Amino acid sequence: MIEKVLIANRGEIALRILRACREMGIQSVAVHSTADADAMHVRLADESICIGPPAVRESYLNPHAIISAATISNADAIHPGYGFLSENSDFAAMVEEHAITFIGPSPDHIRLMGDKIAAKKAIADAGIPVVPGSDGEVTSLREAQETAERIGYPILIKASAGGGGRGMKVAEDSAGLEEAYLFSRTEAEQAFGNGAVYMEKFLGHPRHIEVQVLADSHGNVVHLGERDCSLQRRHQKVLEEAPSPALNRTQSDAIGETVTHAMRAIGYKSAGTIEFLFEDGEFYFIEMNTRLQVEHPVTEMICGVDLVREMIRVASGAPLGFKQSDIRFHGHAMECRINAEDPWSFNPSPGQIGDYHAPGGLGVRVDSGIYSGYAVPPYYDSMIAKLIVHGTNRNECLMRLRRALGEFVIDGISTSIPLHQALMRAPDFMNGDYDIHWLEAFVGEPQGET
Ligand code: ADP
Repeated sequence: MIEKVLIANRGEIALRILRACREMGIQSVAVHSTADADAMHVRLADESICIGPPAVRESYLNPHAIISAATISNADAIHPGYGFLSENSDFAAMVEEHAITFIGPSPDHIRLMGDKIAAKKAIADAGIPVVPGSDGEVTSLREAQETAERIGYPILIKASAGGGGRGMKVAEDSAGLEEAYLFSRTEAEQAFGNGAVYMEKFLGHPRHIEVQVLADSHGNVVHLGERDCSLQRRHQKVLEEAPSPALNRTQSDAIGETVTHAMRAIGYKSAGTIEFLFEDGEFYFIEMNTRLQVEHPVTEMICGVDLVREMIRVASGAPLGFKQSDIRFHGHAMECRINAEDPWSFNPSPGQIGDYHAPGGLGVRVDSGIYSGYAVPPYYDSMIAKLIVHGTNRNECLMRLRRALGEFVIDGISTSIPLHQALMRAPDFMNGDYDIHWLEAFVGEPQGET
């Protein structure tokens, strides 16, 4: 059994993991940079260890510092959270070489899904629909031209090692192909040290819909329904909801079953998310995230499963405590990502928080590590809180979220709360009628900036 978990992360997700550990009677070890010495996850953990200076390369992204901290504190497992080292297969392998349990999938699955060309092939072989595109890597402009003629314009060139929307470029027609191809290769080489690119048909008005799965090491796999994460800006999710307003129960169950079947076929273990674009009634796989996601709480709110707890149980070798038929979906949930940034220009706004008051009441959950007097450091991601709300139906959820946003007080810095409040009054959003480009148009940005 796992008795002590080192949490290799910071902020709200470190707290989220710490809470699950405490409820399971598991000791927690926080790690932190010198900039995070006053952070809530450090204060609440059973033990804490400083692992380096503020720069992430020297602290939260330093595998040696983290594994040393686990060894010194006698932790028997590491939960990586999201971001940082969570999808680094070498780190997961290194953890296991030190006889420490990695709370996540096998290093092989992380590696496979991190290589998007290989992932797409494995996923297609397992029976999941993918975006029509090149057959693997495109190695020359000539091959790019032939592929584009075959699949039809507009096309999207993507980096095999891609992430965070980097290395992607649209070509509207053959005149723009050469520039897009060269741009994508160069950015992929610079950002990821791997210039391999592939091509996909560019979908004009899709929604981003993803399916949550949980799998144990005994071959049991369940899906926990979908999340709609179409409200994005520069490929960053802003607000997520479950279930998707664009799917009916039959479509939702069908994609869940397809994914479950595929995960069983590839022998996946732990929590994972399969991301799709959904357009004109069809699903197209884009990538798989082999980790816990920021937006996992909307799933927890509608099905009552504690995803972090299940990840820990599965990592310790226990079978899932439920079958697919035990999973019931109740009502509707939404999550607002609240960032320390100007709500309209999106410029970061780190600094000291003055008054702080979190909303409460029935169906309201706030996952955050901030407090009055806390100084938001400038070194890390700008997300400082997640406001998650549940209602018996989408309309009740919307009204509750609107109410909860009105109660939220974070003084001293700018936050994205006013953007969320504006969304709550937008007729398209209220009707569930939006695609992945809608938000950028709403805030007045050029569309399709891929
Ligand atoms: P990354 O790992 O860099 O985030 P993804 O493959 O997950 O890359 O794609 C990120 C986003 O880019 C998607 O959420 C979607 O908005 C857009 N996108 C990706 N593939 C396509 C496509 N074939 N057509 C249109 N948009 C796409």
